[in-house]
Amino acid sequence: MLKLHNSYTSSIEEVDLNKKEVKIYLCGPTVQSSPHLGHGRSAVVFDFLVRYLKYLDYKVTFVRNITDIDDKIIEKSKEEGITYIQLGERVTEEFGKAYKTLNCIAPDKEPKATEFIPEIIRYIEKLIKNDFAYLTDSGIYYDISKYDDYLNLSGRTKEDVLSGSRISLEEDKKAPEDFALWKFSKEDEPSWESPWGEGRPGWHIECSSMINSILGKNIDIHCGGNDLIFPHHENEIAQSKGAFPNELFVKYWLHNGMLNLSGQKMSKSEGNIKLLNEYLDQFGGEAVRFFFLRSQYRSPQEFSEELLKESESTLNKLIHFTENEEAAPKNNDLLKIFEDSMNEDLNTPKLIGEIFKIINESDDLDKKELEDVKSTIKYIFKILGFNFLKEKRQKNTDEDLINFFKKYEIKFSNIDDSINEYIAKRENLRKKKEYKAADEMRESILELGISIEDGTENGWSWKNS
Ligand SMILES: [Zn+2]
Repeated sequence: MLKLHNSYTSSIEEVDLNKKEVKIYLCGPTVQSSPHLGHGRSAVVFDFLVRYLKYLDYKVTFVRNITDIDDKIIEKSKEEGITYIQLGERVTEEFGKAYKTLNCIAPDKEPKATEFIPEIIRYIEKLIKNDFAYLTDSGIYYDISKYDDYLNLSGRTKEDVLSGSRISLEEDKKAPEDFALWKFSKEDEPSWESPWGEGRPGWHIECSSMINSILGKNIDIHCGGNDLIFPHHENEIAQSKGAFPNELFVKYWLHNGMLNLSGQKMSKSEGNIKLLNEYLDQFGGEAVRFFFLRSQYRSPQEFSEELLKESESTLNKLIHFTENEEAAPKNNDLLKIFEDSMNEDLNTPKLIGEIFKIINESDDLDKKELEDVKSTIKYIFKILGFNFLKEKRQKNTDEDLINFFKKYEIKFSNIDDSINEYIAKRENLRKKKEYKAADEMRESILELGISIEDGTENGWSWKNS
């Protein structure tokens, strides 16, 4: 039975979903600047969820939006001297490339906020009619005083909220916690006609309107990073309750944890951002995807380039181990491990741990048993969106090669000489019957995308796959 952590109840719940229709909405990017690893994590971990639900035979409708109008987009485009449309298109393309390289399933719908202006206006009209919104000189605002259950998702208090820095301080709001639904445009800003005057939507109303227009008043799972809980998701709830007081809106709220760079939250303000597409070029989509699999989606995840390299070499071990076998569900014990781990709030690190335990004990298996284990491991990873292709990183940098061979006291000059020397060292170990160390050398060099094969004519051969 699948259990997931629901942020709204702060507890792990047995999910109760209709097999014939599961509606999932994931808050997608605001296309103001190039994607970073945190965007990759959110996309990948919820891709694991979507794929696993499909494996369990749920019919999933998955929507991930693009916020293509926002204060920050306007600001950034002015800085760059281009239009907000040009900036949005460029960044949207970068996100698209990253999603594809990470092998994330394309959403059934990927709406852009600017394509939903009439729907957004209708939603705001409903909030005004229901007396949850008011008009000022600067825009239309949501009236928090009208909504009693505000902050039930985050469990914060209004005092917390007011002391937080994320509250904007438009002069003419009734209360500081009220938020903009429609902002009247200043000069030189993109704007749309509305019954109240030219302007543009606030961020929160965009998601509520897109959800309502595409998926309906109620959805099953709403996902996003845990940095969106407040104010974005609190405000989405407030809007939906204002417009449709008798509807549930969201059955399960799922939030992924943030990435940490040496203990610090990875955010733009910390200035430690490296671009997602740079890592994808360097390591390939599968290695980065595998890095995200190694941490449970809700936990904060430590990031360093070293950890990414480690993920790459662990993934290569799996690829190597399952080589030459077809993906097929042949070993029931392994399938049970897979489902038990995933059912436990998508406990992917546990799954990896159990799989490696089996690999490490595989010496005791007979030929058929071993083949079945390999096929099943390949099958499990296929479900999770890994093709085990030998795509590998684009190329090893000289620095990678120097550092790699240095560990074996080999001075790197050129790849052929260094590998010959490496193989000679390994042969030496084998002669001395130090098979464990020799095996480790064979495994270790996989991180460069090179495999050494024993038992060929020369005793060895290597191929850069
Ligand atoms: Zn959203």
